Amino acid sequence: MLANYGYKDASGDFFITIDTDKCDGCGDCVSACPVDVFEVVDEDPNDPLRDEPVAMVAADKRKKLKYECGPCKPPSDRPPLPCVEGCKAGAISHSW
Ligand code: SF4
Ligand code: SF4
Repeated sequence: MLANYGYKDASGDFFITIDTDKCDGCGDCVSACPVDVFEVVDEDPNDPLRDEPVAMVAADKRKKLKYECGPCKPPSDRPPLPCVEGCKAGAISHSW
């Protein structure tokens, strides 16, 4: 399942998507992100049929991702994102 966290405003779409079919709850994204955007929960509240750990975007970060992720996304010469690079399962993508 693709779980989308974020928002849309006049300046664009700011969503982080976690592919929960790929995510194994390893927690590497939690350690990779310098501003604690991710958390791993024991059960997926969006999927009653799944009872393994899964990553989510923390509730208090969902409405401010553009600003939280800003330092990782300079306008030019953008380096690989620590969260995307850190997820060996390839479960994380960003809409912007
Ligand atoms: S690093 Fe990837 S596989 Fe591991 S918990 Fe985060 S999203 Fe899931
Ligand atoms: S882009 Fe940076 S701040 Fe945003 S979720 Fe990834 S590691 Fe965290």
